[in-house]
Amino acid sequence: MKTAIITVGKEVLTGKTINTNLMHIASSLQSIGIDVNRSFVIDDIKEEYNKILEFVDEDIIFFTGGLGPTIDDITRESTFDYFKMETFLDQDIVDSIKHYFERMNMKMKDTNLKQAIRPLYSTVLINNEGTAPGLYFEVNNKHIVLLPGPPSELKPMLPTVLEILTKKLDIKLYSEGFKLVGTGESYMEDKLKGFYERHPNVNIAPYAGLGEIKYIFTSSNKHDLENCKKAFYSKFSDFIYGNLNDSLEGVVVRLLNDLNYKISFAESCSGGLLSGKLLNVSGSSSVYDEGFVTYSNESKIKHLNVSQKVLDTFGAVSNECAYQMVEGLHKNTSCDIGISITGIAGPTGGTEEKPVGLVYFGMYHNNKVTTHKFVFNGDRDKVRNRSVIYALNLLRGELLDVKNNNKSTTT
Ligand code: ATP
Ligand code: MG
Repeated sequence: MKTAIITVGKEVLTGKTINTNLMHIASSLQSIGIDVNRSFVIDDIKEEYNKILEFVDEDIIFFTGGLGPTIDDITRESTFDYFKMETFLDQDIVDSIKHYFERMNMKMKDTNLKQAIRPLYSTVLINNEGTAPGLYFEVNNKHIVLLPGPPSELKPMLPTVLEILTKKLDIKLYSEGFKLVGTGESYMEDKLKGFYERHPNVNIAPYAGLGEIKYIFTSSNKHDLENCKKAFYSKFSDFIYGNLNDSLEGVVVRLLNDLNYKISFAESCSGGLLSGKLLNVSGSSSVYDEGFVTYSNESKIKHLNVSQKVLDTFGAVSNECAYQMVEGLHKNTSCDIGISITGIAGPTGGTEEKPVGLVYFGMYHNNKVTTHKFVFNGDRDKVRNRSVIYALNLLRGELLDVKNNNKSTTT
């Protein structure tokens, strides 16, 4: 299938705007195995549309730009007229443009109505970032895609465009991915500089969640996909905890089972969230007997033997308290591995010395206690959830070390 991309607008012709849309469209198409054969930039004059449409013989034609509401935005009517298409005013699009303006406390102008006109048999590409919806339609055995000019509006539409073309052209796509923990999106994007370019036939999409990131790789070429995954894995193996079907707590339970370990938790600010998360995993009963939620100082003393002296001298949110909590936990449960969590989830209770989000962790394993400190961003809910993910990741690291050491001593 031959493909052409036609960029519309004086700004690109005069060099005021760099044609980054060409880059985004062409590289997305490459990930589903479609090469772009030619690219043109035209002025937004009706005659130019007719001339270029007369000239191109490609099967897939992209237009970008000229979908706005003003008099000089004529991509829609120019293409509809050229192909002599029957059109109608789509009330759903009118309503969505109205909503877009209402969200900004403004009223829709009549000039916007033309953005709601589309051919009878066409697919609307929803635009949440602006008023101009994109369009896909088939005419004279050609696939036509109209996309808006602003990159922030065009880019979110590309996955839908790829989905449509994949279906229409019966392209077989492969999709796989990894889940990562212990890293952030901006760190990853920095480390991935140049990586995207080295894997042009693979679409690499990050999805950031709470304390976790998913990277999904999609390609029409299985071999390229495997190579990309391999390269990604060797670069980020420290952060990768599994594939798209895995959960962090599931991986921890699997490791505990593999090592025949029992685990216990002593939770303060996370209030049982860590236990709850682990017990969501089926099969966790074989690795978990008991845990404590010790919210008050009295409870920490009563159930975990935390000393009054530590509480008086360092406070409940301290390295020393996390240490004693997990030490007491081990004594009272005889777990093989244990975790304690004590921190300030907020929104109140923070001080300059101990801010909201400050959390201490204790880990007992092999007759040794280690402590860790982290300051998490976000509201109460986020601090508590991020603490749980942090604790699970601590466990994952420790258990993996044991498993790998076991392996290296038996082989
Ligand atoms: P609008 O509603 O903003 O008029 P539009 O779909 O009509 O949207 P244009 O008027 O062609 O799009 O362009 C709007 C803006 O989008 C331009 O000022 C420019 O900043 C950006 N833009 C347009 N074309 C490109 C391109 N090819 N590459 C990068 N940016 C572009
Ligand atoms: Mg415009």
